[in-house]
Amino acid sequence: MNKEYEVIIIGGGPAGLSAGLYTSRARLNSLLIEKGLVGGQITDAELVENYPGFAEGISGLELGQLMHQQATKYGLKTLLAEATGIELKGEQKVVRTTKGNFTGKAVIIANGSERRKLGIPGEEKLTGRGVSYCATCDAPFFQEKPVAVVGGGDAAITEALHLAKFASRVIVIHRRNQLRASRILQEKASSEPKIEFLLDSIVDEIEGEDVVKKIKLRQVTTGKESTLDVAGVFIAVGLKPNTDYLKGVLTLDAAGYITTNDRMETEIPGIFAAGDIRQNSARQAITAAGDGATAAIYAKKFIAE
Ligand SMILES: Cc1cc2nc3c(=O)[nH]c(=O)nc-3n(C[C@H](O)[C@H](O)[C@H](O)COP(=O)(O)OP(=O)(O)OC[C@H]3O[C@@H](n4cnc5c(N)ncnc54)[C@H](O)[C@@H]3O)c2cc1C
Repeated sequence: MNKEYEVIIIGGGPAGLSAGLYTSRARLNSLLIEKGLVGGQITDAELVENYPGFAEGISGLELGQLMHQQATKYGLKTLLAEATGIELKGEQKVVRTTKGNFTGKAVIIANGSERRKLGIPGEEKLTGRGVSYCATCDAPFFQEKPVAVVGGGDAAITEALHLAKFASRVIVIHRRNQLRASRILQEKASSEPKIEFLLDSIVDEIEGEDVVKKIKLRQVTTGKESTLDVAGVFIAVGLKPNTDYLKGVLTLDAAGYITTNDRMETEIPGIFAAGDIRQNSARQAITAAGDGATAAIYAKKFIAE
């Protein structure tokens, strides 16, 4: 595989794929590096109803595949590998990966974020055995069984709505007294008879020998403890930017996000960032795609100058 490119894009979600579409259509020799499933987080969304152009909605997996097809059609190359570091060599940027080093004149960092863990006893041991971070992937295993969803944002309610198609009961557990999810999602969840809400509550432990059997709960206002029998625990408590490999290369904010200007430029000329990995990103497929297009346009200008 060629080792030298004009643009290297790290991450194949909506931001990286849009960046790749724009750089490839601009006839810049471009490489996209993706460590998992091309399409990014949106592939976990069963139905995407807010991506313009799809009036009836589209499955996240299909949306990701279409974005990849479209960018590939214009010449974008894809390498399935993990980026592990970036080094500066004069004006060149060397991207280290699990499949060797690649050099680019410009780099667009678009490798998003991943789900946060609760960090409680039982979580790690029972992951894949009742503990899950993806309802789209695992909901069918919980046919007619009770499950808990931990979290109160859009992701948690989306997970709960999906689980309600399979599980016997879906109990949404949120540590605050109000959900953070958008009103439309809250309305949908409230009108779904299988979904119940336990607010002001924290999960302290997940119990089970081989598979999840129950969870230990604590009411935050009264401190009262209780247990709940469930077969599954779906955790949706937010995201962590995938920037550990960039420590020492770029300045990250306190939460680990990358700051850019409105051209998606970072503090290093020729290194751009786009999508959920950016500080204050709206964390939507459409905004990530917009960031990717902007980064690509300014990467092209950077290379030309
Ligand atoms: C369940 C769910 C439902 C959602 N529903 C919607 C919705 O209906 N509408 C909407 O607009 N948004 C939705 N979102 C949010 C949307 O998916 C994200 O905002 C969007 O995918 C962010 O795009 P991104 O390209 O910035 O990052 P990501 O989609 O996170 O893509 C980043 C990619 O980088 C890869 N990667 C990570 N680290 C590395 C590395 N070191 N080397 C190489 N590759 C790496 C990852 O594998 C991933 O494929 C949903 C998200 C989830 C989880």
